[in-house]
Amino acid sequence: MEISTKNISLDKVITNGTVKQNLSLSILRLDKIHIDVSGNKLFKLHYFIKECLQSSHKTILTFGGAYSNHIVATAFLCNQKGLQSIGIIRGEPPPTLSPTLIRCKQFGMRLKFISRDLYRNSVCNAEMIAAFKQEFGDFTMVPEGGYNPLGAKGASLIMDIINEYNFSHVCTAVGTATTLAGLLLNRNINQEIIAIPVLKNMMDIPERLKHLGVDNNYTPNIFVDYHFGGYAKHTNDLIDFMNTFYVETKIPTDFVYTAKMMYGIYDKIKEGYFTDGSNIVCLHTGGLQGNKSLPAGTLIF
Ligand SMILES: *Cc1c(COP(=O)(O)O)cnc(C)c1O
Repeated sequence: MEISTKNISLDKVITNGTVKQNLSLSILRLDKIHIDVSGNKLFKLHYFIKECLQSSHKTILTFGGAYSNHIVATAFLCNQKGLQSIGIIRGEPPPTLSPTLIRCKQFGMRLKFISRDLYRNSVCNAEMIAAFKQEFGDFTMVPEGGYNPLGAKGASLIMDIINEYNFSHVCTAVGTATTLAGLLLNRNINQEIIAIPVLKNMMDIPERLKHLGVDNNYTPNIFVDYHFGGYAKHTNDLIDFMNTFYVETKIPTDFVYTAKMMYGIYDKIKEGYFTDGSNIVCLHTGGLQGNKSLPAGTLIF
């Protein structure tokens, strides 16, 4: 790994439901690795960084939005490793940069803004990549969110930590599904994998998993009802949950990913989804820096 993972802890959470149903609920605190590098992003980038270090151009180019955890993680890791980084950012240049992008610049990332239309339609097509090569020279390209078999292979390293324990259920939030693919690539037989999409109507997870190199025929359990209106959308109910969860556990969550996952798992515990004696782990994949996009005072942490 590019940075130390020794701060990762496994925190137990106790609720009425866990006591009544004899469940064990743990949170793998990948967020404690580093504030700028959401835990799962470190893993997803691992093999890209390795590949780039062996190249002569020593440059990584990647993509993301103005609050992207992936963008800032890439900028940080490249800075650490003496690699150049280029961030292609969705949208016109804003009058003031987001805290995320300011952080990226501090890590030496060069930023290029492109319009939302262009971004949506052509960000990874051959013509666009040729234009980027003209402008920046050669590079290792990392798709947005590390959405590539190499990213999934990196995410599979998370399972090396998990499989030191005897968990019956492993739960993760899903954006591009690259982390989920990593869990599936390295899953123990008898382990149930639970996926909570943070996007509305995400119907293409099976196709995504195929693209990411998962070819076993195990199907993860997908809880589709916890997107709270869609990607980066939230409700008062979700914010209340985050604040209460923090008071009870001292664990901060982010509103885009980890809060939606925990809300979903709490809901399923209440519903009686988990069988008596289940040993559940939820990945705290980080993303806390993204909370800066909320109005001040929304969260108590
Ligand atoms: C990016 C991210 C995810 C989603 O990971 P995917 O591999 O894209 O599905 C989950 N949690 C956090 C905090 C993230 O930043």
